[in-house]
Amino acid sequence: MAAINSLRELLVDELRDLHNAENQLIKALPKMAKAASHEELKEGFTEHLEQTREHVDRLEQCFKILGEKAKGKTCHAMEGLLVEGQEATTEEGPDAIRDAKLIGAAQRVEHYEIAAYGTARAFAETLGEDKIAKLLQETLDEEGETDKRLTALAETVNEEANAAGQTEKE
Ligand code: FE
Ligand code: FE
Repeated sequence: MAAINSLRELLVDELRDLHNAENQLIKALPKMAKAASHEELKEGFTEHLEQTREHVDRLEQCFKILGEKAKGKTCHAMEGLLVEGQEATTEEGPDAIRDAKLIGAAQRVEHYEIAAYGTARAFAETLGEDKIAKLLQETLDEEGETDKRLTALAETVNEEANAAGQTEKE
């Protein structure tokens, strides 16, 4: 692996990692939508799939500005997070329990993205790459909104999961 010798190269490296992470997510979100039972959760995953395509598009705009290629990195963190997401999709217990597990997996993904976009945006700001910083902030805002929606949805789903568990015990 070549050494990274400048903050600009580090930004490119982070953006490649994110580009790979978002593309992995594009493949996983339809499976998560399919596995979800709660209608709002299902819709949420489908809507986030559309947003995620825009996230890839914004990253590609960043690469264009930098005159760099998007490919070349595998995001191992997202691989791991999606193994756990996959585990949630195949959970065989009550529907609401599976939904609660799916929300937990999805929020882990969002928090990872929020951390990564925040890091990349800060690099872009330091480098005076204002257009890139703005593009990254737009995505960062959407990831934050998605996380908040999941938290709100969890309030209902967790109650349902709790009720479902109690019924099974009887
Ligand atoms: Fe995203
Ligand atoms: Fe996301």
